[in-house]
Parts: sequence; C-alpha cells; structure tokens
Amino acid sequence: MRTVLEHAAVSTVDEEGTEYRDGHVVVEDGRIVAVGEGPADGDVRVDASGCLITPGLVNTHHHLYQWATRGLAADSTLFQWLVELYPIWGRLDAEITHAAASAGLARLALTGCTTVADHHYVFPSDAGDQVEALVSATNWIGVRAHIVRGSMDRGESQGGLPPDNLVEDTEAALLGTEQAIDKHHDSSPEARVRIAAGPCSPFTVTEQLMTGAAELARRKGVRLHTHLAETLDEEKQCLEEFDCTPAEYADKLGWLGDDVWMAHSVHLSPAAIRRYGATRTGAAHCPTSNGRLGTGIAPVRDLLDAGAPVGLGVDGAASNESGGLGEELHQALLQARQRGGPTALTVREALRMGTMGGARCLGRDRELGSLEPVKLADLAVWDLRGLLYAGIEDPVAALVLGATPPLKLLMVGGETVVVDGELRTADESTVAGELAAASRRLR
Ligand SMILES: [Zn+2]
Repeated sequence: MRTVLEHAAVSTVDEEGTEYRDGHVVVEDGRIVAVGEGPADGDVRVDASGCLITPGLVNTHHHLYQWATRGLAADSTLFQWLVELYPIWGRLDAEITHAAASAGLARLALTGCTTVADHHYVFPSDAGDQVEALVSATNWIGVRAHIVRGSMDRGESQGGLPPDNLVEDTEAALLGTEQAIDKHHDSSPEARVRIAAGPCSPFTVTEQLMTGAAELARRKGVRLHTHLAETLDEEKQCLEEFDCTPAEYADKLGWLGDDVWMAHSVHLSPAAIRRYGATRTGAAHCPTSNGRLGTGIAPVRDLLDAGAPVGLGVDGAASNESGGLGEELHQALLQARQRGGPTALTVREALRMGTMGGARCLGRDRELGSLEPVKLADLAVWDLRGLLYAGIEDPVAALVLGATPPLKLLMVGGETVVVDGELRTADESTVAGELAAASRRLR
C-alpha cells in the first residue's frame, strides 16, 4: 500500500537542502519511495495542505528516568544538582524507569522526535531489569531507541561524585553492558532498538571502565557515548587529577573517533575542536539543559566548521523540565547567535542539526535523518494552519524561530504514532497517571 502525503511544504534536508513548496512524500512498506513537487500516485492520500513535512527529529542525549524527578534543585550548579538528586535516583527500579521512560518518549513523539538516544547510568542492585523496561517503553510508544547502557564505578570513597551505594563494580558494569548488547542490540538497517556503551562521565567513572567500555564496544560493533566537557568544574577537576583537559583525557583513552558521540562538549579548546573534526567525533548539543544549569554555550559553529557531526539533545528532564525536542531547534539557534553573532547559525542549519546531524551522531545517516527514497519513513508533518503560523512566509523559519507547532502526523517506519496532536500508540492520561505514581514512590 502506497501512502501519499501531498500539498505540503517539504524540507528534505538532503545533501543539497532540497525543498518543495507544494510537494509530496510517498511511503510504502515502511520506507520513503518518492519525494517531489506536485501530485503523485498512491492508494491512500493524506491532504497535508498548510503543513510542513520534515524528517523526524533525532534526539541524541536523554536520561528518560529523570522524567520522574523533575523540578528539583531548581537553582543549582551541575555538581550541586547531582548531589541533591543522587539519593533519589538510588531508589529507582524497573517499574519507575518504565513509567518515566514512557512519559518522556510520549513527550518526544509529540514534539516531532522519531529516534531517541537514552543514556541510562543508574543501576541500583535491587532495581530489576531497567534496560528491559526501556525497551518495553520504546516498543509501547513506537519510536526508535538507541539505549546507551551507562555505568558509574567511582563513588565518593574513590574521589568520585556519586555516593558509593549508587555505583557498580567495574566488572559488573562491563558485564551488564555486554549482556544488554547481546540481548537487545539490532544491527539491521531497520533497527528499532540499538545498544551503545556509555560510562557516565570522567568524574563518576574510573579509567579502567572508560578503556574497558571502549574495548567492549569496538569488539561488539556498537557505539560509544559519554558526557564530556560540560562544565568548568569538570575541567578544573580533570586538570587537577589528570593534568589534562577532559577532551585530552578522552583522546588519551581512545575515546575520540567516528563511533563516538559526546554529550555537551561546551568547554573545548580550538585544538580539541580540530580533534573532534579530524576524528569525526560527534557532539550532542543540549542547549536548554546547558542554559538551565548555566554551564556555558557550546561552540557549535566551530564544531560544524571543523567537520564534526553535531546533533541536538534535550538531556534528562531533571535539567530540562519541558523535555520537548522541537524547541531545541529554537534554543540551538538562539544560543549559537548569542555566542557567534546573527550569522552563526541559519534556521536550516538548526533543522539539519536536529535531523541529519543527529543521525550522523548515532551512525544512522544512511537510514534516516533526511527525506529521500529508500530511507526509513520516519517523518514529522507539522501543522502550520492555526493561530501560531497561519500565513507565515517561510515554514522552516516558523518551525525554528517560533514555538513548536502541533503535529498533524508523526510516522516511524511508516507506522502512525501521532495524529492531530494526539498520541495513537498509548493513552496519554494512562502514561501521565503512571508517571505521577512513579514520581510519588521516589520521594
Ligand atoms: Zn546528560
């Protein structure tokens, strides 16, 4: 069955940035089979007049479990915020993680996101199978997930930031990561679930775990992810302890490369930016979270110019209570221009970052991230007909410069996830009820 979405503005985000004013996208068997101007043949026709069709947005950094711990440490630095939240996260279990992840994924789907990287690094010993809970939530809401099996093995007694009862043994962390890969990683082009290895950050993880995770990921053919260069506090600690910057530390441990993407990457020297570019190390830019924690503005323009893949992330909802990905397009544009002036990032570059840039970070750029024949039918149909955007001249400018428009349709692999602003895969009030119960259990 061929489904034709027609009479819409279409921004393909292909290499040439091809756009159509009255265009169509044709979907068959979960893939895009045609994109172009004017009418097209099909069995089912969807009139998308007044809408903008873009690739589904790709979220490159999240901690879905944090949906259950929002609104805490509202005026704190990153380290203060972590110290307040760690004891609460120590009470996580698989049921709470499932409820929080379902809510976070629902919110992402409703803001145009079709692929989500979730970095889960809190594994209390009696919490049950949290990776299984994340996979189950992913299948329920109907998006694609790159679940980063995170880890911490450096508690307070070893000079780390988290309390000792929240960290794993190095060996247990590596074993848990290997088991998650063996059980859930799907390397096929259509994969709904992939696994990556993700020690949490230099100040919560030993050098042995960093190098062990890199060795494991490369042996298994999965990607690597961590937090890097997020704050000046982190840089100061790294200089004191290792006599090098976080980026130099990562480089020394074999942690720069085209199979690695880093969350944040705010505090990078010109030399580090060149290394990111030369090694094709990806950066997950999380502008709202960086603003909430006042960490600084990432050098996105410089990273793009150096050739590094740059994607967008909402980060965990405990440092971005909105958790919507559409608005990160807007925030990324504003922050880039605050740092580099009005020409530092165009609206179309912001959209590219939220789609193809993210796909590159996750190693999926041949499969998704743009609207082109044979790519997976992951797409967002933004409804610009209402009060927010009726009559606006440039639909891409509307999407990036304004508030996130409602969705007429969200498709993942050709399957419908959102219609007319409503989730179709799960009942939103059920998801919200389970989230509220999970949050109460954690307090
Ligand atoms: Zn994070």
